[in-house]
Amino acid sequence: MLTLRNLGKTYEDGTRALSGIELQVEAGEILAVVGGSGCGKSTLLRLIAGLDRPTTGQVLVDGEPVAEPHPLVGVVFQEARLFPWLSVAENVGFGLRHLPASERAARVTAELERVGLASAAGRLPRELSGGMAQRVAIARALAPRPRVLLLDEPFSALDALTRAGLQDQLARLWTGDRPTLVLVTHDIEEAAVLADRVVVLRPRPGRVDAVIDIALPRP
Ligand code: ADP
Ligand code: ADP
Repeated sequence: MLTLRNLGKTYEDGTRALSGIELQVEAGEILAVVGGSGCGKSTLLRLIAGLDRPTTGQVLVDGEPVAEPHPLVGVVFQEARLFPWLSVAENVGFGLRHLPASERAARVTAELERVGLASAAGRLPRELSGGMAQRVAIARALAPRPRVLLLDEPFSALDALTRAGLQDQLARLWTGDRPTLVLVTHDIEEAAVLADRVVVLRPRPGRVDAVIDIALPRP
């Protein structure tokens, strides 16, 4: 479960990007965050990921404050950002180096099977299509079993057909005991198809200072 309490960010140059954000997202829930360019989506994501410090308030994961990058929170960016010199399996196992080798190997195999890429385990990132690379990035983020997974525009660099396939796969993946998923996207249709709940980040008139509107849950 992810809780944002009075979360706010003012940059050093005085830009107030977010203020007073209050939000609770349950385990297994898919929350989409949509909004126009400059409304604070990247800022919100960086705060939740612990990549940047809030000016006010707190990010809590299962009640525990998160102030820096943390194994409880996984992130997937628009580009897969795989380690180019590591195989697919090594990429997925990267966050599992603390586990015994046999357990790590089993976890890597299970995650790759889940995204339909078991047969690509030995390939290098440059031998993958964009859609495959993004599936590996998702498997790598899920392997350490985070409580919250953040996806930042995860499919927007892909062609329409690949994007539809991955959206479908993600929806099927998100059943049973899954973490909280926060999907940042400018694609309203993607939000409507995938999310249980959609929040709209809306700059206040006359200044950059986003507030959250919560849209109706889907029927
Ligand atoms: P989005 O991801 O929705 O495009 P951002 O979170 O990147 O929005 O930006 C929100 C606002 O904060 C914008 O006005 C942007 O220019 C500003 N901003 C973002 N990062 C910084 C920064 N490092 N320093 C100053 N202003 C920033
Ligand atoms: P995105 O496409 O993810 O919304 P942006 O293109 O808005 O990202 O911003 C890219 C990077 O530049 C982000 O790390 C953001 O914080 C930073 N940035 C955005 N606006 C500003 C700004 N006005 N001053 C400084 N950094 C900024």
